[in-house]
Amino acid sequence: MPTSVKNLQYLKATNQASILRHLATMGPTSRVELAHKLGLSKMAITNLVADMIQDDLVFETDQKISHNGMTGRKSIALDIPDCRINAVGLFIERFAIHCNAMDIKGRQFYYDKLPIPPESDNAAAMEIIFRLLDRLFQKYSEDTFSGIGISSIGPVDLNSVTILHPTNFYHISNLPVGKFLREKTRLPIFMLNCMSAAALAERLYGNAKNCNHVVYLGLGSGVGAGAVINGNIFTGSKGFASELGHMSIDPIRGRKCFCGQRGCLETYTSTYSILKRLRYPSMEQLLKDIEANCFTDKAREELSTFYQAVRSAIIAIANIYDPEMIVVGDQGSQLLEPYLPKLQKELHILMIQHDLHDITLTTSAFQNQTSLIGAPSIIFDRIFSKVLPPFNGIKAS
Ligand SMILES: [Zn+2]
Repeated sequence: MPTSVKNLQYLKATNQASILRHLATMGPTSRVELAHKLGLSKMAITNLVADMIQDDLVFETDQKISHNGMTGRKSIALDIPDCRINAVGLFIERFAIHCNAMDIKGRQFYYDKLPIPPESDNAAAMEIIFRLLDRLFQKYSEDTFSGIGISSIGPVDLNSVTILHPTNFYHISNLPVGKFLREKTRLPIFMLNCMSAAALAERLYGNAKNCNHVVYLGLGSGVGAGAVINGNIFTGSKGFASELGHMSIDPIRGRKCFCGQRGCLETYTSTYSILKRLRYPSMEQLLKDIEANCFTDKAREELSTFYQAVRSAIIAIANIYDPEMIVVGDQGSQLLEPYLPKLQKELHILMIQHDLHDITLTTSAFQNQTSLIGAPSIIFDRIFSKVLPPFNGIKAS
């Protein structure tokens, strides 16, 4: 095939991926608005959309919308059919494995979960994953999906799709999930650690839509972060970047951490650490007591320490990554909710370039579901980046 034809095909696929991304993440949009948002001519959009309508990727809705939100002439809005492009998500956390199916517009249409029994090993973990997939594929055939995205507790090897050696993960270690899954399915498989997947979920479907630079800080039983830089997930050289839970904020007198340091962020801000120190059975109980203003001086002191540690982390994130937005998620973010406006103000005073840049601080759109929504988002991000086609090779489109 001549190079000029190849170039044209590449350009067409890139522009169609941009149209898909806009419609999937921003909702129904007119041709005029698409041309404006994507920097393409109206004629180019008309031609690209005509092909996408023929392939049933896009349809004309009954809805007419104003150009740029202004009154005046209205145009027909375009949309992607519901459940036309779908992905499987597997979220592997410490105590359970979750399976969800989502369409490219972020609509979850299937959810299942199985616990990981104590003392589980690699074989037991794979059995759980296979059982979850068997149950999903009994309801929806494999060719309904464009791929499987895996969001897992880390560390993970992204290239070989392997869970390495997470702490306190029973006997599960060096588990080549990708290798075993490829023996069962022909679907493309991609993996991210659950914090990076959460950052992707926020960027595509949550509070950070359209932000090219966003950092997600997850305050769960462990603490970590995921970063989107220049529109792409920042993984580092081996996929271990943004381990902010083990950034020390008090290396001299700080609390001892299992990693060998003192004063790691995680020792002050993980829900595991807070509940253990306060001898609370659950976050639900703690939040209930806080709401009723019924808690001890020790709890008050612990929450004050938590707040100061989160503030240090957020200022460090602002100074290191220079994002447009910082999203705080997982269960611990609920403790932060009442203090968010105060924290936002302090961030603007204390970050080093405070006179040059405003950074929006917010909590996650999905609360403690962000890493779960992140799992299928991994596949959609690959489709939007043109690494994957909208449909897998086994689907007749
Ligand atoms: Zn540590």
